[in-house]
Amino acid sequence: MNYRTLGKTGLRVSVISYGASPLGSVFRDIDEQAGLRTVHLAIDLGINFIDVSPFYGLTRAETVLGKALKSIARDKYYLATKVGRYGTDTFDFSAERVTRSVDESLQRLNVDYIDLIQCHDIEFGSLDQVINETLPALRRIQQAGKARFIGITGLPLKIFTTVLAQAEVDTILSYCHYALNDSSLDKVIPVLKEKDVGIINASPLSMGLLTERGAPGWHPASQVLRDASAKAASWCRHKGIDIAQLAMQFALANPNVHTTLSGTANPENLRKNVAWINQPIDTQLLHEVLHILEPIHDMTWPSGRPENN
Ligand code: NAD
Repeated sequence: MNYRTLGKTGLRVSVISYGASPLGSVFRDIDEQAGLRTVHLAIDLGINFIDVSPFYGLTRAETVLGKALKSIARDKYYLATKVGRYGTDTFDFSAERVTRSVDESLQRLNVDYIDLIQCHDIEFGSLDQVINETLPALRRIQQAGKARFIGITGLPLKIFTTVLAQAEVDTILSYCHYALNDSSLDKVIPVLKEKDVGIINASPLSMGLLTERGAPGWHPASQVLRDASAKAASWCRHKGIDIAQLAMQFALANPNVHTTLSGTANPENLRKNVAWINQPIDTQLLHEVLHILEPIHDMTWPSGRPENN
């Protein structure tokens, strides 16, 4: 496993990290025992950064992760969770709610502190409130010793540049913007590097688009994006390679990203994902797949308030 420094936090995080949303049965109904085994396997494989949220499975992911963490030494992993999002349409970025939220997460996760507390999907709220109320509340939580660093997450890249122009955060978590079909994260990397912000890239498989199973029903991608991804998957199959392999290798090859979150509750998939990133990418196939995906390159979907997109 290789490790990189997560911006100004100084934390040395594994280049591939564990996204625990599947533990909340976000993608499919999971076998809890397999989920618990996946967390242990992640640690055994050298993964030391784990991300979760009270939103995933409406607290179930945190609860299942908490069970797994009970038997893992606290110095084996850095733990990130979030505040502000509590349901598909339920958001509360008030200082009072996010402060209570951290205490609830600490209990569910069975830990005394969180390494990184992130404001979840801020494009759904008022960025003014995030800057002037939520982030200061998170700094107070940090001062109280309940969290070590603070960050923000969301889909539209604009939210990161807007917030960073007015406030200080330690990390950003971007998703679905550095994968075979969308590499737009690259456009904001210079601003992030200039401020020495930790860069977390999530969804290297574009939340399932770049897999044999395809995206789940709730996935926000348009039909044209789904069709192009299915075409790319079929070409990889024809060439005898799982598209997930090419997608993982592509995402992990970006040296500017400090860590890439891979989400699975299946130990075999996690084992494969870690093995793949240490194998050379098939450059010919990569070229062909990027060509198939060219018509939809950087095509995304709106998320949150119109003014934040
Ligand atoms: P992802 O793009 O890797 O997609 C996960 C899906 O791919 C799951 O269905 C999983 O079962 C499947 N998968 C994983 N490995 C596979 C393999 N080898 N073969 C076939 N299928 C495979 O990642 P993701 O779950 O979208 O994101 C990872 C993590 O990032 C999440 O768990 C979460 O912690 C974080 N995240 C955060 C935000 C946010 O803060 N707004 C958004 C998205 C993701």
